[in-house]
Amino acid sequence: MLDSKDIKFVLVETSNGGNIGAAARAMKTMGLSQLALVNPCEYRTYECYSRAAGAFDVLDNALVCQTLEEAIADCTQVIGTSARLRSLSWPQLDPHDFTELFGTAPEGSKIAVVFGRERSGLSNAELGLCSQLVVIPSVADFSSLNISAAVQVLAYEVRRAVLAQDSASAPAVEEAKVKSGDLPADHEELERMYAHLESTMLDTGYLNPDNPRMMMPRFRRLFNRSSLNRSEVQLLRGLFASLEKMARHIKA
Ligand code: SAH
Repeated sequence: MLDSKDIKFVLVETSNGGNIGAAARAMKTMGLSQLALVNPCEYRTYECYSRAAGAFDVLDNALVCQTLEEAIADCTQVIGTSARLRSLSWPQLDPHDFTELFGTAPEGSKIAVVFGRERSGLSNAELGLCSQLVVIPSVADFSSLNISAAVQVLAYEVRRAVLAQDSASAPAVEEAKVKSGDLPADHEELERMYAHLESTMLDTGYLNPDNPRMMMPRFRRLFNRSSLNRSEVQLLRGLFASLEKMARHIKA
């Protein structure tokens, strides 16, 4: 089961403190808190904290290391990121396949996602520590995102995977809480509603039995497209009943 705490974002030799702040903010918005900084610049600057926009806990709890090996020491899987396609030695993933990995990671896994330097990315030696490489499919002739934007994209993908996992495992109690009115109307309820609609339209004169103009099939198509639930069917039938009453009143 994927837990945000088991995902560590590692930034290698980031040279701009503002980027570190922005990355911390990007992570926090997506529920990620595990940040490691490998040999960072002097980052506790005004620009860094202002770009963090309140994600100070992520910054203050960041693990600062001298080498990438240190930062990933407790990780069971290391995934690199790169703005451009590298040689075939690294299996390349797009951001979607990357989060699919989480679903299959065995219990107890800890995954590192490694981001490179603003100018030169990750070295071949650093890439050698990664089992896979995620490439955000940007356009070929302008492929390099700002590092904090790359962090945001991948943090969002992780978030989507966590949300999908949470909703798939929502307890059965939640299902019991669904009100009966929220249940989709079944075939019989819809047929009764169509019969009611037809009699109402006849009563009001909107439907001319001698010239029906495909009225019922058109209404059926409209309502079938809306996936009505039970309470919506009741709502419509209440409306039909009031129109019928009025039509009868006018005729009387
Ligand atoms: N010139 C460098 C660009 C570095 S951008 C290079 O070619 O690698 C800084 C970091 O942001 C990259 O090392 C990577 O971690 C991340 N990044 C930028 N664009 C990316 C993309 N399209 N896909 C994945 N990661 C990207």
